[in-house]
Amino acid sequence: MYKRILVANRGEIALRIIRACRELGIESVAIFSEADRGAAYLELADEAFCVGPAKGAESYRKIDRVISAAEIGNVQAIHPGYGFLSENAHFNEICRSCKIDFIGPTPEAMARLGDKNTARKLAREAKVPVVPGSAGLISDESEAVRVAHEIGFPVLVKASAGGGGRGMRVALNDLALKAALQQASTEAEAAFGDGSIYLEKYIEHPRHVEVQVLADHHGNVVHLWERDCSTQRRHQKLIEESPSPGLSPETRAAMCESAVRLIKAAGYTNAGTVEFIVDAEENFYFIEVNARIQVEHPVTEMVTGIDLIKSQIRIAAGEPLPFSQSDIVARGVAIECRINAEDPKKNFQPSPGKIERLIAPGGFGVRFDSHAHTGYTVSPHYDSMIGKLIVHQPTRREAIDCMLRALSELRIVGIQTTVPLHREILRHAAFVDGRMDTTFIERSGLTQ
Ligand code: ADP
Repeated sequence: MYKRILVANRGEIALRIIRACRELGIESVAIFSEADRGAAYLELADEAFCVGPAKGAESYRKIDRVISAAEIGNVQAIHPGYGFLSENAHFNEICRSCKIDFIGPTPEAMARLGDKNTARKLAREAKVPVVPGSAGLISDESEAVRVAHEIGFPVLVKASAGGGGRGMRVALNDLALKAALQQASTEAEAAFGDGSIYLEKYIEHPRHVEVQVLADHHGNVVHLWERDCSTQRRHQKLIEESPSPGLSPETRAAMCESAVRLIKAAGYTNAGTVEFIVDAEENFYFIEVNARIQVEHPVTEMVTGIDLIKSQIRIAAGEPLPFSQSDIVARGVAIECRINAEDPKKNFQPSPGKIERLIAPGGFGVRFDSHAHTGYTVSPHYDSMIGKLIVHQPTRREAIDCMLRALSELRIVGIQTTVPLHREILRHAAFVDGRMDTTFIERSGLTQ
């Protein structure tokens, strides 16, 4: 097992990894930007190095600085968390050439699945259903129009390198399609340095359901059931839960098996998520693989009792999975609310600033994963998520009630947060009945 690990991230996920290291008896080395200097969670690491100015591109994303911190920190492995360098195959390769283990898949598997178009191809080969669409990348406008007429409007123009909802445009007709091609490509080129695009049929009112998998270096691949992330605003997840309230046991089993098939076919190792969308008839379609730990991993941890971060570290260190598929039983219902420093009343504009007072909820079945505290200043430089509130209860009804209770205990004074919105969603009939799809939040008027 490793003696020291570099945590190449910030905020709640850095804290989550530092905690896992401590439990495993591994020393953690944190990194921070000038904007995060003095953050309390850094005190929980065994050592911490400044890697540059506030801007992510100059610090958390800057490969040479992160590698320097790893060298000076004398670590054997790097945990990238999510975002920043976590899905950067080039960084992954550099770690390998520096003989530092990257806690995640190999650079090859990452590259195979990181590109959505190649991942689709692999999924087709593994007999995993994909959304009807173009066979591969779209090279010109006329080809796009031809494919769109074949699959039928509405269509979704997607960037192969896209992520975080960027590089994606819906088109209802030929004219809109031509504009969408241009927009999606330009946006992806600017954000990811790769403007290549493909087409998918736009599935109306789908659910977003994803399967968590773990794969070790000894050929063992298991799934840890699914998470439903349909409660989204503008393709950004707000609430996640496990199990999905809208799946029959047959669909659930078929989907989880498909995910394992794809992961095996890709020669993928460590933790990963296979994302699907599910239509009203419960047809499920693969959309992408997230080759990293995800924000919403705690709901899976709560229902399965398996610590995913510790599992990632053990897998990277070469240990075989200590359980087989039949040992993984999902118990009860877990729900997670993302607490963002945003103002839901002002079109979700970021609300950075000093938290004058923070009281974290607690009690039976409540988990609050956050690096924030009274006196903490939310930086305008990074993602606005300041914490995740997770509950675990025997039934969905009890989980909703427990979440409402926990949200009422959570006090964050000094900045605006998404807490009031969560309270409304949790009381909304569509959510209470488990009838959410990815568009229900916008249609409900809750975010107006
Ligand atoms: P990103 O990597 O940017 O998050 P995804 O491919 O995961 O992009 O898609 C993000 C969200 O967009 C999904 O959760 C779903 O809500 C929606 N989406 C993606 N593909 C489709 C599709 N073919 N039809 C309808 N909605 C889709």
